[in-house]
Amino acid sequence: MNSPSQIPHVKLPAGRNYIGGEWLDDAAAERLPVYDPATATVIGDIPGSTPDAVNQAVQAAHAAFVSPAWRDLSPLGRERLIHRLAELVEANAAELAAIETLDNGKPIAIASTVDVPLTAMWLRYMAGWPSKLGGKSIAPALQPAGSHHAYTVRQPVGVVAAIVPWNYPLVLAVWKIAPALAAGCTVVLKPAEATPYSALRLAQLVHEAGFPPGVFNVVLGDGRTGQALVEHPGVAKVSFTGSTATGKRLIATAANDLKRLTLELGGKSPTVILPDADLDIAVPGAAQAVFFNSGQICFAGTRLFVPRNRVDEILDGVSQVARSFKIGAGSEPDTVLGPVVSQRQLDNVLGRVQAGVQAGAEVVMGGGRVDREGYFVEPTILLTRDRSNPVYREEVFGPVLTATPYDDIDELASLANDSEYGLAAHIYTRDLSAAHQLAQKIDAGTIWVNTQLSPDPAIPFGGFKQSGWGRENGEQVFEHYLETKSVIVKIA
Ligand code: NAD
Repeated sequence: MNSPSQIPHVKLPAGRNYIGGEWLDDAAAERLPVYDPATATVIGDIPGSTPDAVNQAVQAAHAAFVSPAWRDLSPLGRERLIHRLAELVEANAAELAAIETLDNGKPIAIASTVDVPLTAMWLRYMAGWPSKLGGKSIAPALQPAGSHHAYTVRQPVGVVAAIVPWNYPLVLAVWKIAPALAAGCTVVLKPAEATPYSALRLAQLVHEAGFPPGVFNVVLGDGRTGQALVEHPGVAKVSFTGSTATGKRLIATAANDLKRLTLELGGKSPTVILPDADLDIAVPGAAQAVFFNSGQICFAGTRLFVPRNRVDEILDGVSQVARSFKIGAGSEPDTVLGPVVSQRQLDNVLGRVQAGVQAGAEVVMGGGRVDREGYFVEPTILLTRDRSNPVYREEVFGPVLTATPYDDIDELASLANDSEYGLAAHIYTRDLSAAHQLAQKIDAGTIWVNTQLSPDPAIPFGGFKQSGWGRENGEQVFEHYLETKSVIVKIA
């Protein structure tokens, strides 16, 4: 029997859009159900917002963008508002974590120690930037010294459409919202249809923090609403996190009016254990890298490469760690592995495992559904030497690891790079020289050595190859939210 919920009862915000500082119904929209993944029961519904509602949100964001209340606010004024929002996130942390657990299914231990604290930390980090985003004075190369004064100014691009997936609903929204607001842009956020509620609670906190109306807006709905947002001529920039397939569609849509576009897409990241690695670190690290958040992490380490003579030892170790994870509803405090987010995702993960096994992958552990209500998948390890096996090549986005033996460390870079994706890699070794050499050769946006899954607001994050375009976080993120203008004045 499942143990009872251990998290406080939360009142979910009503499924309405937040536009121009007001909560609005979209009467013409169909209602989309939202499920608790732990029980597969409906917990609420949201509008599949129509193009009219999207238009209203973009217009509100545009009006706010040119309004003196936002445009003329000093950089320190923006810093203060973003810090205020961080304070409110911290003050409401328990409630936000409970919402995230109910809506996404993730363990409350993750929501309360990762999702919500990271949300506040990202806001705090980005709040420091507005007053440091100035331009430069530049000496022209073709003019006599002192004859011209040339400088650059950096201006916010305009209305940003932020479209996010369901695996880290609040964190991934804030990865976009915080730098966009810091840069002086205004935002229309479209959360994933499976996990809308933390975005709505965030909108209430934005309101309470005192942002001018229209600076931040939320439109609810599925891909059709997202598509209408990307098509809207009033949107200057689209910041998207989601699947590579959707990312490709967005490129085609955004090409119509050359919208600026950043894409944080899928991954099939390697975990590489070198022969000299400290297995006390590498084995739990490899398990965490793939099973944390039930494998629903874009940079999860889903392809494990192990020295051939240590395959049994390492796979026994990783299986043992995975078996120790308590599977349960996210609301139970000792749950380590919660459900996957939806029936669709459950079918998708199990289908990919089945296809992999049919193509010859050997089941080391798991491979099926957990026998209980809700969308639970067993932690799964598949051994495959065949690198054309679909479960080895395609993103699963669930708790599924493929393990592949190697003979020679000289093959590791090409094994790691044998993927259409290039989001991240994990390397385990005691030999720092080998680690740095391999890090140079792996085509991925982030390489972790002897650690795993630890993004940082100061450190750029993004993908090579089909894992995306552009970088989030750090100073680099502002390239996407600011235009550079050059001013050249003849003074003599
Ligand atoms: P998805 O692409 O189906 O949906 C993502 C978002 O896009 C949702 O809000 C959805 O409603 C919206 N959307 C769908 N079709 C659209 C369209 N035609 N136009 C505009 N918006 C549209 O992805 P998902 O299944 O929700 O998320 C899982 C994927 O996200 C995985 O591939 C994962 O790797 C990726 N992801 C990437 C990162 C990263 O930082 N690189 C982080 C998390 C997740």
